[in-house]
Amino acid sequence: MMTTHKVKSVCPYCGVGCGIVLEVSENRVLKVTGDKEHPTNFGRLCTKGITCAQAIAESGRMEHAYIRSARGVEPRPFGIDEAIRETAKRLRAILDEHGPDAISFYVSGQMSLEAQYLINKLAKGFVRTNNIESNSRLCMASAGSGYKLSLGADGPPGSYQDMDRTNLFFVIGANMADCHPILFQRVLDRVKAGAKLIVVDPRRNATADKASLFMQIKPGTDLALLNGLLHLLVKNGHTDPAFIAEFTSGWEVMPSFLEDYPPDQVSEITGIPEADIRQVAQWIGESHEWMSCWTMGLNQSTHGTWHTNAICNLHLATGAICRPGSGPFSLTGQPNAMGGREMGYIGPGLPGQRSVLVEADRHFIEDMWSIPRGSLRTEVGTGTISMFQSMQAGEIKACWIICTNPVTTVPNRKNVIAGLQAAELVITQDAFLETETNRYADIMLPGALWSEAEGVMINSERNLTFMQKAVNPPGEAMPDWQIIARVACEMGFAASFTYSTSADVYLEIQKAWNPKTGYDIRGASYERLRETSIQWPCAPDSEDDRNPIRYLNNGISQNRKENADGTHPRLVFATESGKGIFLARPFLPPSEMPNSEYSFVLNTGRLQHQWHTLTKTGKIAMLNKLNPGPFIEIHPEDALMIGIREKDLVEVRSRRGHAVLPAVISERVRQGNCFAPFHWNDLYGENLAINEVTHDAVDPISFQPELKFCAVSLARC
Ligand code: SF4
Repeated sequence: MMTTHKVKSVCPYCGVGCGIVLEVSENRVLKVTGDKEHPTNFGRLCTKGITCAQAIAESGRMEHAYIRSARGVEPRPFGIDEAIRETAKRLRAILDEHGPDAISFYVSGQMSLEAQYLINKLAKGFVRTNNIESNSRLCMASAGSGYKLSLGADGPPGSYQDMDRTNLFFVIGANMADCHPILFQRVLDRVKAGAKLIVVDPRRNATADKASLFMQIKPGTDLALLNGLLHLLVKNGHTDPAFIAEFTSGWEVMPSFLEDYPPDQVSEITGIPEADIRQVAQWIGESHEWMSCWTMGLNQSTHGTWHTNAICNLHLATGAICRPGSGPFSLTGQPNAMGGREMGYIGPGLPGQRSVLVEADRHFIEDMWSIPRGSLRTEVGTGTISMFQSMQAGEIKACWIICTNPVTTVPNRKNVIAGLQAAELVITQDAFLETETNRYADIMLPGALWSEAEGVMINSERNLTFMQKAVNPPGEAMPDWQIIARVACEMGFAASFTYSTSADVYLEIQKAWNPKTGYDIRGASYERLRETSIQWPCAPDSEDDRNPIRYLNNGISQNRKENADGTHPRLVFATESGKGIFLARPFLPPSEMPNSEYSFVLNTGRLQHQWHTLTKTGKIAMLNKLNPGPFIEIHPEDALMIGIREKDLVEVRSRRGHAVLPAVISERVRQGNCFAPFHWNDLYGENLAINEVTHDAVDPISFQPELKFCAVSLARC
């Protein structure tokens, strides 16, 4: 008789981070259900979550390593041991001949915490390069840099629990209904109880369908709206002067700055009726507890950092932050992107929300890694786009890509392809053989999927969930952390990369706590995590599983502050002064405006039932039935003007390239705008890659590209 057992884990898709229970028998997952005890989803799962195990047993899994003898030829299977030795030998040769900065790493928010930590340790501590980028650069980099400037540290100050207490949701640049569906259920539960839902988006999406008030904003004008709302809050007497005086700095410049954003002018810039702007400002002012939720619509902009600053301004001005039911809340895209940001796997980051740009942080990590003081370098690059440009220029000669598919996801992807073609050595590490990026790889290493290895994932609200191993990986596939550690050992770093289990790696990670930001997982041991998920900060002696509000001056993991008179302020932000900082951020237009040749604005995004580049969801019949193929959404008036009918093939062309997609005629987009999902690429047909068209201009602070806005022409094929 077949015996089954249950294994707890976490959904491998979005940053909501839903707990799942896998029913397992004879090395197969028979069924996935939501974990009723998990504090994120309480048993609920969306279509992707419920089908997530189906990709495990799909054909196309890499059961061996593969190596190409030359570019353009078919790769041949190799034993994993031999491929790891070959990877290390070739990386070592490039390091010895050309120096540390000839090597680069491009990694992912879908890796476990242990793998993210090890790859950063290898790059910065032992190869001694800061050329490590992750796909978080395309996703949440602007939220991260904005939080650091406004509040002193990356990450939302509150929790999902706030969604159960708030009176008003201000959702801007986030299609939660499609992209964070289980969290959106929680939002709707609260809306049913009387909370208001304001949705701001250029596209009337599924989230907008549920809104109390939908503002269909002109793309790229969000800063004008955010400043305009604060202008009205001031005029209406809806700010909190006591909070501003005690917990913030920089307010003195704001009133005069905000004079430039009266509602009639904001209406003109944004295309939103003035009455609606006034109504929303009134509702926010009267709501007492209110939350803002945002994601790619604000982050993927050349002013993405400023968007986060402007949202923080609104919360600091109303005092609606760091108390139950209120706060700015960025919604992370990937399941462990928060973990990766905390491990510092992007740009200057170091584990524990630290940075190579801060001397004390460098010394802390150098001591932790037992490397000489001065080993960590302070030169940092300018992001993912420039890293691939450096490959094209021949400065970077090797790139190791783990658990991500940049040939399809990076805007203006020709630069990525040219960079990989120019590099001497491209290593990929993936669970599946057929990916667009693998076509350019010299060595392909077989990674285990999430349910085939142990590890920790951290969701949008600092919640750590343990992934238990449910089944064995196929063939010689191996957990990412183990491949990284073994390559590092072969490169000559065995003294610092010899680990028996992922638990050994995690024990090391726990040492990287940071009393300035409150980052602390010392009390969240593997043993405790096997029993329940835990939200950091979690100090060693803490018995609390949840600390839903950050920056409280309660001595939990964070440096305690005392006023001159011996009293203790309620809040201490992670800035130098301990205060939240107002930053005046003027409205500026996007980097590439339409003209007579490229007269439409293209917006790209995700659909509800597919995930990123389809390496997993594209293999699942139910999801393919629900979201079967690519399209370009065009407004009926525009379609009439150009002579396009439903399902006609449309050429979408920009200054950089073109794609050909079937038309969907829809009033969901504004006139003059169009929308295309980015899921379907080369493996599904010719000319489907919308990232041939998108723009790679970047935010000068976060270096996040402006994926949400570029000028295109549309023509019937
Ligand atoms: Fe998975 Fe996100 Fe769906 Fe939850 S909402 S089941 S984490 S895809």
